[in-house]
Amino acid sequence: MKVALTVNDFLRRAELLYPHRIGIVDEPDQPAESWGEVTYAEMARRGRAQAAALDALGIGVGERVAIVSHNSARLLTALFGVSGSGRVLVPINFRLAAEEVRYIVEHSGARVLCIDPELEDALRDVPCEFRFVIGAENDAPLEHADPVPWVADENATATINYTSGTTARPKGVQLTHRNIWLNATTFGWHLGLNDRDVYLHTLPQFHCNGWGVLYAATGIGAKHVIIRKIDGTEILRRVEEHGVTVMCAAPAVANAIVDAAPMWDGPIPGRDRTRIVLAGAPPPTKTIERIESELGWEFIQIYGLTETTPLLTMNRNRAEFDRLAPAEKAVKLSRAGGPTIGVEARISPDGEVIVRGNHVMAGYWDQPDATADAIHPASDDPDGPDWFHTGDGGFIDEDCYVTISDRRKDVIISGGENVSSIEVEDAIFSHPEVAEVAVIGIPDEKWGELVTALVVLTAGSTLTEADIIAHTRTKLAGYKCPKKVELRDTLARTATGKLQKFKLREPYWAGLQRNVN
Ligand code: AMP
Repeated sequence: MKVALTVNDFLRRAELLYPHRIGIVDEPDQPAESWGEVTYAEMARRGRAQAAALDALGIGVGERVAIVSHNSARLLTALFGVSGSGRVLVPINFRLAAEEVRYIVEHSGARVLCIDPELEDALRDVPCEFRFVIGAENDAPLEHADPVPWVADENATATINYTSGTTARPKGVQLTHRNIWLNATTFGWHLGLNDRDVYLHTLPQFHCNGWGVLYAATGIGAKHVIIRKIDGTEILRRVEEHGVTVMCAAPAVANAIVDAAPMWDGPIPGRDRTRIVLAGAPPPTKTIERIESELGWEFIQIYGLTETTPLLTMNRNRAEFDRLAPAEKAVKLSRAGGPTIGVEARISPDGEVIVRGNHVMAGYWDQPDATADAIHPASDDPDGPDWFHTGDGGFIDEDCYVTISDRRKDVIISGGENVSSIEVEDAIFSHPEVAEVAVIGIPDEKWGELVTALVVLTAGSTLTEADIIAHTRTKLAGYKCPKKVELRDTLARTATGKLQKFKLREPYWAGLQRNVN
């Protein structure tokens, strides 16, 4: 017997076994009406209501529904209600500028766009056939409604997650129900999730569907606590108030928590109980040590990409590390980790991490060439099976653990957000007084990497650093705009005129162990 694996399995189980349990504590501080505390029965009912509303609009199976929202119970439920009825959810980064959102809505062909009320003004001019402001009167009705049943197909696309990569425009990663199901169950198992867990949403839900842990937490009957804005003290307060036991975050969020800890009055909440999963960039060993000693939380690292749903490797304290001194243990934990069950990882002859497994995406939406560039046989086994090429450089040590040591793709990761260098270069270059530009990441304590632009001006130009930053602000999301601009006379290039980014990066990274931060 074979039963299709779909996102419905998770919410269906929660509704069956934990109907009266509080499934979600919504952010109390929503600009739109907060859902407050919602039981799993109610969450499932609201998911069905969303699906029925799409039926009423005539949105067919396989059609796209975009949502751009901060973390909310509404977005969490849409991951079940929209995908679970056979439509494809496109969760969009709420930090993007209107032009960027417009591109994604158009490229994905979404017929429906749901907008966070806080973003309503900024996104006023983004067109879509059906536009809804979440919580507004014309938003999906929440009364009882039974949607048309979907003939479940585990290979159907459940979500398209746009991610900035090596191209000027973000690419749409198609994750299937099967990808999501296997990622979630594998993740939940490696984390040891159970129905006493309380999961705090410190990760943006749009980012690879909150990395998929939110599906696992639902299926196991854990409680979701929504948080909208990142603030170290507020996170500690929520951990205390709700008895949070697990959260996922970018290293910058962990830093915000450890920085807030010394000001916290009384014992740190969650000591010896809470686990925090970090990914997005290699966390500094100092952060790892501080999480374990100052917060008393368990540090766990994972490595993956949106294209791999994302889980590939995990590094979690194991019995062998117990006898190590804190600093030694932090070094062990600073590696990306060992492959999670079902994942095969190796290093290609030219040093790239390549992987096989059931979490690898179906492909990039409407970009077969980009898909073929990423998924193909390894160069040393051209007739062999397909591998996903991560674009990350690394090595595998005697423990079979992967360490990410370099980024081969031209991507900067700042505060857990991917920034395409090319996209920023395009924006700067659109200024008529810019003759040449190179955008690189330089190491930074707080953000991991800082978007930095090296610019050559046209003859006679008097443009300043501030003028260039202001110019990008009109075109790009704030986090993509350069934090630093340096004016140069020339930029290092190869004989064929190609920018030598590694040479431009060198002086900033000299003396550091890794070329990524
Ligand atoms: P995204 O698709 O936005 O999730 O970004 C994926 C990229 O983040 C990867 O290709 C890596 O470059 C980086 N990344 C994720 N996790 C880690 C980690 N644990 N260590 C180093 N880099 C990481």
